[in-house]
Amino acid sequence: MAITDKIYVKNHRQLASQLETSFPKGAFKGATLDILFQGEGLAKLNEASRDRVLEFAEDFLDCDCQANPHCGCAERKFTRYLLELREQGLGPQGVVDVMGDDYMLYAYPGDVRNFLDDSIRTLEAVEALAEVDGQGDVAAKARQKRDDLV
Ligand SMILES: [Zn+2]
Repeated sequence: MAITDKIYVKNHRQLASQLETSFPKGAFKGATLDILFQGEGLAKLNEASRDRVLEFAEDFLDCDCQANPHCGCAERKFTRYLLELREQGLGPQGVVDVMGDDYMLYAYPGDVRNFLDDSIRTLEAVEALAEVDGQGDVAAKARQKRDDLV
């Protein structure tokens, strides 16, 4: 399962009752993207929630793909956002705290830790393959990225 399948909407029940409809807890579920982040219900949310929801839509759902918001861009951008937080030196709990402040989302720190470990292992594999392949610059780039994450 991708990390974006393990990102949840904070105050889920409260938001659903403000919107007077139900939607899944998973932030990147199709129905959540439609109802919470793109729906006409925005006006029904209280101000603090609305700001966070709009912030998320602006930062992750701003592509021009025809399939938006179901094109996969949001998931890719959010994954990059998590890696950037790590590069800034945050640990799993810190990452969870910041996504809560920024977008009213949460995840379990253990899931974030697994995601970061997997990312590091992927970069190590890329580096090893590139070296075998004689692509020194790719290997160097992968090593650099990895060093930024550990
Ligand atoms: Zn897109």
